[in-house]
Amino acid sequence: MALEVRKGISIDLTDRVVLVTGSSSGLGESIARYMAQAGAKVVVHYRTGKDRAEKIVSEIKAAGGKAIALGGDVSNKEEVRNLFLSIDKAFGPIDILVNNAGIDGKRGLVGDDNTDDWEEVIGVNLMGPYYCAREASKRMKPRKTGVIINITSVHEYVPWSGYSAYCSAKAGLSMFTKTLAQELSDFNIRVVAIAPGAIKTPINKDVWGNPESLKDLLDKIAMPRLGEVDDIGRVAVFLASDLASYITGTTVLVDGGMALYPDFKHGG
Ligand code: NAD
Repeated sequence: MALEVRKGISIDLTDRVVLVTGSSSGLGESIARYMAQAGAKVVVHYRTGKDRAEKIVSEIKAAGGKAIALGGDVSNKEEVRNLFLSIDKAFGPIDILVNNAGIDGKRGLVGDDNTDDWEEVIGVNLMGPYYCAREASKRMKPRKTGVIINITSVHEYVPWSGYSAYCSAKAGLSMFTKTLAQELSDFNIRVVAIAPGAIKTPINKDVWGNPESLKDLLDKIAMPRLGEVDDIGRVAVFLASDLASYITGTTVLVDGGMALYPDFKHGG
């Protein structure tokens, strides 16, 4: 099974073992579905939402794909270690890791905030990808093959008042992407980041669910729409494939021009 892009070009990940962390909803779910369509064996991973993860797995299987659902907290290194052991048992060693699980955290200006909240965001958004990449690279290096995709954010570049932990974690994950790409470049392992802009998912429902804040958000994007989860799923499956075989150590922005200073669109 391969995902036909257009006649003559197809994305083929047949039997590659893929873990997409936090894929029981949002961007992760879309990425998992695209990977499965391209023929990969997909681990649909959840922290909460086991039912939802199992539903995604049965839909993938009903369409002729291969998938299992596995749970765990990415900010807990023991749980990450066990997750990878379970993947070894179920599918064999991992070929493609997508570090997608993430949280925004509570809004709080530095000083008025709570240090536990800051640590939680760093734990999930930065330590989690590190723990997973560590386990993945141990399995990829001896086999000289692999792709690691880190989902950062437009906030790896753009500061966001009240969310200093989120911005710091994503900027940190961007530098981790580059450093790890350098470390793994002799092993035929690519490491890339995708920086989404504003994509309609449960993480930002409070913003797009309200007409006033939706207008404010749209004013921050050069293109006249929010992103859809498919916008990210398609880029992830391309970056995971051999079509992207010379791309490593960089971030692909998928943001409809959010980082283009849209206020300058009309001159001034
Ligand atoms: P989402 O809330 O739908 O998905 C987040 C996923 O991460 C969920 O499946 C959740 O269960 C999982 N998760 C949270 N904490 C976890 C933990 N400790 N261990 C394991 N899994 C955990 O949100 P989303 O928008 O799909 O976000 C996915 C990623 O994309 C995140 O890293 C987020 O920062 C990033 N992102 C999203 C947007 C956007 O506009 N939606 C923009 C930029 C970046």
